[in-house]
Amino acid sequence: MTVTSAVTPTIESMAIDGVPKELFIGGRWLPATSGATLDVLDPSTGSVLCAVADASPEDGKAALDAAVAAQDGWAATSPRERGEILRRGYQALMDRQDELALVMTLEMGKPLPESRGEVAYAAEFLRWFGEEAVRIDGGYAISPDGRSRFLVMRQPVGPSLLITPWNFPMAMGGRKIGPAIAAGCTMVIKPAGQTPLSMLALSEVLREAGLPDGVLNTITTSRSGAVMEPLIRDGRARKLSFTGSTEVGRRLLEQCSEQVMRTSMELGGNAPFVVFEDADMEAAVDGALLAKMRNGGEACTAANRYYVHESIADEFAQRLADKMAAQVVGRGVDDGVTVGPLIDQAALDKVNELVGDAVDHGAKVVVGGRSGDGDGYFYQPTVVTNVSESAQIRRTEIFGPVAPISTFTDEDEVIREANDTEFGLVSYVYTQDLSRALRVCERLETGMIGLNQGIVSNPAAPFGGVKASGLGREGGKVGIDEFLEVKYVAVPTPY
Ligand code: NAP
Repeated sequence: MTVTSAVTPTIESMAIDGVPKELFIGGRWLPATSGATLDVLDPSTGSVLCAVADASPEDGKAALDAAVAAQDGWAATSPRERGEILRRGYQALMDRQDELALVMTLEMGKPLPESRGEVAYAAEFLRWFGEEAVRIDGGYAISPDGRSRFLVMRQPVGPSLLITPWNFPMAMGGRKIGPAIAAGCTMVIKPAGQTPLSMLALSEVLREAGLPDGVLNTITTSRSGAVMEPLIRDGRARKLSFTGSTEVGRRLLEQCSEQVMRTSMELGGNAPFVVFEDADMEAAVDGALLAKMRNGGEACTAANRYYVHESIADEFAQRLADKMAAQVVGRGVDDGVTVGPLIDQAALDKVNELVGDAVDHGAKVVVGGRSGDGDGYFYQPTVVTNVSESAQIRRTEIFGPVAPISTFTDEDEVIREANDTEFGLVSYVYTQDLSRALRVCERLETGMIGLNQGIVSNPAAPFGGVKASGLGREGGKVGIDEFLEVKYVAVPTPY
């Protein structure tokens, strides 16, 4: 493992200076009414990057007021107009990709190439939903008894509340803002307090792209619950779209039940990665690395449990360990770095505890297994084998660069183990046997499957989970449905 040194502060501070630090309400950048601010830290050094406005519940209400006031006018705009704004937003993000990637790396820690990838990923959601805006259709049908006609129209849900996590600070916003704009909904978005800058930058990009005042309102706060709960209970917001932990998601679902509010929930995962004895070994190891190390393991889609057929497990573990050992850990802004820091001390403590517990339950560390050097929250890319079913790491979302490997001998046994979790976001399967591939895909209880592929995310595909991993789908053709209501009109037969 290598820990590299810091780079020129000037480029970094220029990028940070270019991002608005206030609340975006009704088309204007405003300080928090109390004047309070919230520090944003660089997780690779622990130092303060800047401060942003710290919204109070009153500021939250002002944001919802603005969204409600803009709703009717926005819903009346033409789909083409909404699509064109998204298209311009896409282009502006791509034009500013490097500068925005630097901001993202500074606040979140991921290496610059990954941040560039995320800016493009976020932009692609705007482009995709800009294209979908003009394809919101309805239906016309004759009732089975022929006595009436059915008209079906799809209309915007209405003012929406959007809450996003720190691990993909811009893409999780693009995945919600894109379809909300396309559908004709106004919104209040609250990014995670640890990574507000990417969302503030995205908000300014959309303002410059011509988004009318009040359609998008962005609030940053250190008091998420105190600010968002009143908005959920207010009665004027008609939708909550949340991406984050299952624990917080459950709490928000309870709050939403009072108003019977529409919800989309993109929650936690515990992805199994299953390698059968007939798998292409090289492809499986490459996929295993990608499924684990995208975003440094801090992804809901991260492979969390590896099940490898016992006849190939030693070779698989060694080859994956070799690739993990070749990773370069350091500040995300430095050349050649492939793994940045974890988000904070709590995340680092959690990973240390999970690996320690696995070892206490008989696991063997093949590579890594400890915190990294330097001031930030670094953890070494790690492979552990002989992981017992009773180890905590098998049940807990690791959110770090640790690959725990267990073995299996039988297809039924591995499917049972893969499904033995409350989560159901994604699984990965490697086999060259087509019948087995289809059989296993049908039996795995997850919303998505990477079949001989270590990455599933794509703006044009329906992303989402089953069980405690969530409700609804983001992206793809169905993504816009999350922001549309279906209305049916009964009409007497014209004859
Ligand atoms: P988190 O703690 O649940 O926070 C998510 C968001 O909710 C943040 O903006 C957070 O703001 C806010 N929040 C926290 N408590 C709240 C409350 N009581 N009321 C309203 N908002 C509240 O999750 P995280 O640690 O940021 O993100 C990691 C989790 O997200 C993981 O479990 C991961 O699997 C999941 N995730 C899922 C997907 C998916 O598509 N399924 C994608 C990415 C991440 P503050 O942090 O500022 O309080």
